Amino acid sequence: MTVQSATPSLGAAYALKCRECGALTELDASYACFECFGPLEVAYAPATLTRAQIEAGPPSMWRYEALLPVLPGAGGRPGLRPGLTKLVRADNLAAALGVTSLWVKDDSGNPTHSFKDRVVAVALENARRLGYDTIACASTGNLANAVAAAAARAGLTSVVFVPSNLEAGKIVTTAVYGGTLVAVDGNYDDVNRLCCEVAAARDWGFVNVNLRPYYAEGSKTVGYEVAEQLGWRLPDAVVSPVASGSLLTKVDKAFQEFVALGLVADTAYQVFGAQATGCSPVSQAFRAGHDVIRPVKPDTIAKSLAIGNPADGPYALDVVRRTGGAISDVSDEEVVEGIKLLAETEGIFAETAGGVVVATYRRLLSEGLVDPSAETVLLNTGDGLKTLDAVAPTSQPSFMISPSFDDFETRYSEESA
Ligand SMILES: *Cc1c(COP(=O)(O)O)cnc(C)c1O
Ligand SMILES: [Zn+2]
Repeated sequence: MTVQSATPSLGAAYALKCRECGALTELDASYACFECFGPLEVAYAPATLTRAQIEAGPPSMWRYEALLPVLPGAGGRPGLRPGLTKLVRADNLAAALGVTSLWVKDDSGNPTHSFKDRVVAVALENARRLGYDTIACASTGNLANAVAAAAARAGLTSVVFVPSNLEAGKIVTTAVYGGTLVAVDGNYDDVNRLCCEVAAARDWGFVNVNLRPYYAEGSKTVGYEVAEQLGWRLPDAVVSPVASGSLLTKVDKAFQEFVALGLVADTAYQVFGAQATGCSPVSQAFRAGHDVIRPVKPDTIAKSLAIGNPADGPYALDVVRRTGGAISDVSDEEVVEGIKLLAETEGIFAETAGGVVVATYRRLLSEGLVDPSAETVLLNTGDGLKTLDAVAPTSQPSFMISPSFDDFETRYSEESA
């Protein structure tokens, strides 16, 4: 084991560590433990970092560079510079739901309009470090956008694999960046399996396969930003959408790291998970009290969350149980209601995943699983413009008229009567 000498300059990261047996391996492109095939995670030497140092950093996720597995100077290199998205006070939504204090972390403000720009930024730094000139991914849609765009800007080749039934708004917004876009006649889990085979055969950096340990760390920046933007403290509760389960676990990891660094006080928080009923394997396991997750065949309009066999599902369950949170799920009709409620109360147009979060929060409230007086942060991870089909049937002009004043006056009085 030569781990201590391996890539000593990759920030504070010193090894990849098995999440099951703790075995260490070098910081290369591997994702499964050579001892037990468990998933690998980046391990860090203890760091010291002050609020002032972070605040002096760039206005992007790279202000937390010291806590990420990247070569120094990542924030200064050309790139899309995601992060530092808005944390929006949601008083109108809070009033509508009868709760005291609510925030929306709005990651639709990222360069390709979802939180996936964060994970890709970290994966791409490592693809470059490890000498890959092609980056690839298996995607439920948003990752496809983020990989194609980041590759274009970095001058790398991209090969993106998606299920062929994706929303048009995610196909077009990937293809526009150039690169190869492969539509696979199958669901995400089929696409993922195929990508594991391609990754074994080709010398490509698959951001969520052989670069997954680095990729996953990018999600921590959502948690860091929430804590910093609240004025260096933790919320009482956070509600995260769950696809593979990675984002949820990394928000928790971010909070724990900030406590360990002394950047925030060690206050209790609960982590909640949100899924669509049509793809709710983690929610089902939570409700049944199971530790193992039974894979499902997805059938939901929330395609960005449609992972039937979620890699980080068991770890998401651990986090939720440890923090006293819960995971629930909502129907496609409730997802649409969630999108509209957020749009009509706060002027934020979320994609289906955001609708899942708002609707699941409402459900958790009605089931008494979340305290209405807990200061809560809802994660909106994507932009509604990419999933127009979800709301198109119920979001149409109020009425149509001829270009005549009288016609307008008549119809408007009728409508507002
Ligand atoms: C990928 C994605 C998620 C969740 O991702 P995890 O795999 O659970 O980390 C949530 N929302 C949107 C919009 C996504 O694209
Ligand atoms: Zn292991």
